[in-house]
Amino acid sequence: MPFKSLQNDILLPRDLTTWQWLFEHPTYSPLARFPEAELAGYHNAKTKETLNWKQVKEVSTYVSTALVKKYGLKVGETVALFSQNNIWYPIAMHATLRVGGKVSGASPAYNLDEMTYALQKGEAKFLMTHPDSMEVATAAAKKAGIPKENLFLLEGEMKGYKTIKDLVEEGKKESEQVPYYTIPKGKTNMDICGFLSFSSGTTGLPKAVMIAHQNVIAQCLQVMQITPSDHKKVLAVLPSFHITGLVHALHLPVLINATVVMLPAFTMESMLEATQEYQLRELLLVPPILIRMVRDPIVDKYDLSALRRFSSGAAPLSEEIIQQLKKKFPQCGFKQGYGMTESCSCITAHPPSHYDFKYAHTVGTICASTTVKIMKEDGTEGGVGEPGEIWAKGPQVVMGYLNNDKATKETFDEEGYLHTGDQGSIDEHGVITILDRIKEMIKVKGIGVAPAELEDLLLGHEKVEDVAVLGIQDDYSGEVPKAYIVPKPGTEGDDALGRELIKYVRDNRVRYKAVKEVEFIGEIPKSASGKILRRVLRDKQKSGEHGV
Ligand code: AMP
Repeated sequence: MPFKSLQNDILLPRDLTTWQWLFEHPTYSPLARFPEAELAGYHNAKTKETLNWKQVKEVSTYVSTALVKKYGLKVGETVALFSQNNIWYPIAMHATLRVGGKVSGASPAYNLDEMTYALQKGEAKFLMTHPDSMEVATAAAKKAGIPKENLFLLEGEMKGYKTIKDLVEEGKKESEQVPYYTIPKGKTNMDICGFLSFSSGTTGLPKAVMIAHQNVIAQCLQVMQITPSDHKKVLAVLPSFHITGLVHALHLPVLINATVVMLPAFTMESMLEATQEYQLRELLLVPPILIRMVRDPIVDKYDLSALRRFSSGAAPLSEEIIQQLKKKFPQCGFKQGYGMTESCSCITAHPPSHYDFKYAHTVGTICASTTVKIMKEDGTEGGVGEPGEIWAKGPQVVMGYLNNDKATKETFDEEGYLHTGDQGSIDEHGVITILDRIKEMIKVKGIGVAPAELEDLLLGHEKVEDVAVLGIQDDYSGEVPKAYIVPKPGTEGDDALGRELIKYVRDNRVRYKAVKEVEFIGEIPKSASGKILRRVLRDKQKSGEHGV
């Protein structure tokens, strides 16, 4: 029998888009629930520029009207956002969603190849970017067939390019604003994709995950149910292109009327400064930043006495760091969320009753309206205490992968369960612990890296005959890629070649995908069908055995 959530089911509206829900609805929208003077909004911690929800609605409406009337954005088309965090990022997002478009996010550090891939896979027709990413953006847009007039700046100015503020002015000048998009008759908000986010899932290359309006609404309602009332300021440390940032920093705060403090570029200093200045009570971070919270001496220079809890997600956190956090911040509790892009963030999370550090090694309890199966290796369902692969079903489980039925069928079964590729167990109180990651994905500082992408790249190197990439533990990043290489016949697998291959990946991929270690071996272990036997390599890695 599947395990059910212990919480009350959420009351899920099925006929609303995220726009209607957050900005038009008489019971959900903060605009209907709070007087104007009390409205929170998106706030830039550096420039202090702020847009409250009323202003967000206004400017997003103008931007959406300009996009439709002047630039021809159509229902279902994709607007790619390629920028560091800033308060205009969510404006572009809400504007696109308001008129039935899709938003796709990409790491602002992507290089030309990566960005072109993201634009092409996401079928982007528009691109909004930042001056720092402009060089890559213009070249990638050209390769992906996006005309120059559909490329806009979210911040700053550059000759020859329009900014989102120009779109606001252009929309304002229109005699009428375009009406907001509504879900067509006969469909629900689960049928309409609003967001594309890239993930390699359990196997293969990064794929565009189709996230429905319903997924985001459901996840916000699930999380709201377990959000304490003092959560009134949210620091947007995590990138907006990742599902955690998208849900927890760009959407949930609107629903709960919490101020989003946005850091244009992450540094420990800027994060700590904002924590002190805004007297933040909660910090939602990824394990590598939590590690720095206990190890970096700079932390002691700031007054963090307002902090009441840490929230972690996206990757496992070691017991050692948990204990150090507890010791260093005795006034704080701890919670985490566990999930995937494919579950629109959380499948499980800690409710306030579980903020005690004694639960910190777990990922909390099953979110509302969600069921989980623990599938044993023999294909049967596990019971309490038995380890197995976590399968999850709920309104936050996404639509599938864009233009990739094969991967969709492999990951989402006919009953609606998402196969996570994570191994875990559940105790008699419904608390889940993650035991292992059995899928290929490597998590570098909480961001997913697809081994298949690095393998494809390395196979293109003239001195590489065969390759397999897997993640190894790293003190700083959690995990980092390691490449097992079979050199071309006649090529020496020596230190010089190792360095050359590490540089080759560095030159061709964004920094967080960098290969840290190369090991030369005689043969990549493969199954009869040619699939890399990663488990054999993992066991070899664990045993400390080294190849030739
Ligand atoms: P992503 O799609 O980038 O969010 O990556 C999802 C994967 O990150 C999950 O399938 C897990 O392997 C890992 N993950 C997410 N949250 C946690 C957590 N709290 N603890 C351990 N691993 C996690």
